[in-house]
Amino acid sequence: MKDTIVDPVLSDKPKHECGICGIFGHEEAAKLTYFGLYALQHRGQESAGIVSANGDKVFLHKAMGLVSEVFSEANLQCLTGHLAVGHVRYSTTGESNIINTQPFLVYHKGMPLAVAHNGNLVNTLDLRKNLEEKGSIFQTSMDSEIVVHLMARTLDMGLAKAIKESFACIKGAYSLLLMTKDTMIAVRDPNGFRPLCLGRLENGAYVVASETCALDLIEAEYQRDIEPGEVLIINKDGLESVFPWAPRQRSYCIFEHVYFARPDSDVFGFNVYEARKRMGAILAREAKIDADFVMPFPDSGNYAAIGYSQASGIPLEMGMIRNHYVGRTFIQPSQSMRDFSVRVKLNPVRSLLAGKRVIIVEDSIIRGTTGRSRVQSLRKMGAREIHMLVSCPPTRHPCFYGIDFPSNKELIAAKHSVEGIRDHLGLDSLTYLSLEGLVEATGLGQENFCLACFNGKYPVEPDRTFRKDALAGCGC
Ligand code: SF4
Repeated sequence: MKDTIVDPVLSDKPKHECGICGIFGHEEAAKLTYFGLYALQHRGQESAGIVSANGDKVFLHKAMGLVSEVFSEANLQCLTGHLAVGHVRYSTTGESNIINTQPFLVYHKGMPLAVAHNGNLVNTLDLRKNLEEKGSIFQTSMDSEIVVHLMARTLDMGLAKAIKESFACIKGAYSLLLMTKDTMIAVRDPNGFRPLCLGRLENGAYVVASETCALDLIEAEYQRDIEPGEVLIINKDGLESVFPWAPRQRSYCIFEHVYFARPDSDVFGFNVYEARKRMGAILAREAKIDADFVMPFPDSGNYAAIGYSQASGIPLEMGMIRNHYVGRTFIQPSQSMRDFSVRVKLNPVRSLLAGKRVIIVEDSIIRGTTGRSRVQSLRKMGAREIHMLVSCPPTRHPCFYGIDFPSNKELIAAKHSVEGIRDHLGLDSLTYLSLEGLVEATGLGQENFCLACFNGKYPVEPDRTFRKDALAGCGC
């Protein structure tokens, strides 16, 4: 048995992706970027970094750990300049180590070029092989490094042309920030998988961030989303918007609304809190259950549970209490304690549960590893009936666009029917939100979304050798 175990609350959730934030035109650009990264910490907790520039020189600090662990007053003071780009990372390609931290900074003919990337390229192996055959030497195992190698080959043409040429051969999901010593460039892929928004500070400085919650924290005013396929070039002459590539079908990642994005953010034009509440309200329409109260497993499912409660009239209670002071990993007790890993973070409220019929609202079930012991702990407290509602459809397919879903072998819904999952979790009933209901909750039409993890229809053909394990046995 391992002594140290990873967060049991989040272990059945898909891992987050990455978050990016950049500022152009403020004398404390790095410090503001640092606060922006704080707001985006939920998108990646493995490493953090900021690169800054003053028009002449470039400064970089990055390390493994949370934003609060990586940066200090002292190292932020070294990140001088009016321009800064920051990144928080969870690795979806490349190992989790210091070499693969971002922003990734290279020098080409004496010119610095940094990249901070959220997303995942799907033709990585082909591009990398091709570049290596032409003499490129890679320093990392990240797909993001491919971007700078491609850019380096075309930089002599000028930035705008280099971007057009380089990204023309890149496929997949990318919301990213590039930075030279005097220019910040924001790029969103033509499908628009990942969010990216533009804001302005009171002094007129530009802010680009993965989510609007980063703008809120630094009191930047939201201007608009950066459009799919749009490139923003921001320098001392102002902001230039170009659309270098042919438009494609929009493929917004609907899981941003289900789980990834912060509820106080507006993503793809809609507030995430409201969208999650609507998922709960639509669940109340689709699944009518007689129960004494509805509860989430905090914090996932909180907002859908509120929506379900308000729409159904069934009271909302917090039947499990989360301990917010437990770190991401912790030491197992030396004597075996059953369900320790569950109870250390979530503990049921005995007096609330005894003899009650309970509805649990969850945002997703990925592996189904933690649900069973949580349900058992509610039974132990005397819950009479336990029903579960999930605010998205069964996740049956892996993601190739920057979300670390497990392989088909691990996805419980890829292997079992809904009835089989109900039985495995020890529930009285289990109901998933319909795909139509999920899309309805976002307020946009189905044609705007990537729904591949639910329906297996991938908007951009993935490199199937890249995640061979992910597709094993699924017949894709
Ligand atoms: S497959 Fe799922 S998680 Fe991945 S981009 Fe599409 S909707 Fe998002």
